[in-house]
Amino acid sequence: MVSRPEMVAARPEAAEAWAAADALFPVRVTRSFWRRIDPHNPADPLALQVLPDRRELEAAPGDLTDPVGDQLKSPVPWVVHKHPDRVLLLLTKRCHLYCRYCFRRTLAPGENDDPTPAEWSAALEYARNSGAQEAILSGGDPLTLKDSRIFEAIDALRGAIPVIRIHTRAPITQPSRITPALVAGLRERNPVWVLVHCNHPNELSPEVDAALAMLVDAGIPVLNQAVLLRGVNDNPEVLVELCQAMVRRRVFPYYLHHTDAVAGNAHLRVSEPEGRALYRILKTRVSGLALPDYVIDPPDGSGKRSVETR
Ligand code: SF4
Repeated sequence: MVSRPEMVAARPEAAEAWAAADALFPVRVTRSFWRRIDPHNPADPLALQVLPDRRELEAAPGDLTDPVGDQLKSPVPWVVHKHPDRVLLLLTKRCHLYCRYCFRRTLAPGENDDPTPAEWSAALEYARNSGAQEAILSGGDPLTLKDSRIFEAIDALRGAIPVIRIHTRAPITQPSRITPALVAGLRERNPVWVLVHCNHPNELSPEVDAALAMLVDAGIPVLNQAVLLRGVNDNPEVLVELCQAMVRRRVFPYYLHHTDAVAGNAHLRVSEPEGRALYRILKTRVSGLALPDYVIDPPDGSGKRSVETR
């Protein structure tokens, strides 16, 4: 983890917002991710994602506390169930680093970061009886937990739910977390799909490439979800390179998410007309294999819908 003095030395302009922003949503950056940031570039697209900004502290039009309706669709704690065929379990609130735009930033870690044993039993019981075909292990980042915890969760669901998905940013933020033991355990529990989260080509590095390749080489399908973010990837050239870079790594660019309007991320939001215009350009520039769906997850909890047709 990068220390605060080190970050402030590189980014003095972030210092004024630090304490207040950190109190709302932790400021944490992994050493690996930090090495990919250019500290001399005030518009660095990775720094914008993870370093605090005083604008996080200002209320903005459209701010929501439950931006995608998760709380409306939570039948028991740590479970979100929006669709009959999918059920999502939150294994933890913790992440390796904290993205300032995160739609779950109102679930800030601090106290009660993980389900109690009783809560977890109830969450598993609900999921197993949900009739879902796919269980999504999410958070926070489930790969902040030990392998044994991940494997136990999969084993507890398997039998009732045939397909397990792990939604994690770890291959990008903490690529050393993708170990031979983890990959072997996931492979034994096939079918397990891994959905990663990368927003800008600069997030890719030799270590990230190695982590992604370990998963893909083990026969684990890997898909990417990106979030459209102002100053980060609201640019056709960046989106084209991101999508093509994913395909080169055998990762399918699954979703481009419209930014969810959570309190604190207004300065990173892209408007829907801007997003549509970008997507129309992207459609003309990449193959069907490299084209993600551009989706929005509305606050009524009804689940994702396409903003623009493919
Ligand atoms: S890693 Fe994912 S869950 Fe964690 S802060 Fe970033 S976007 Fe949110």
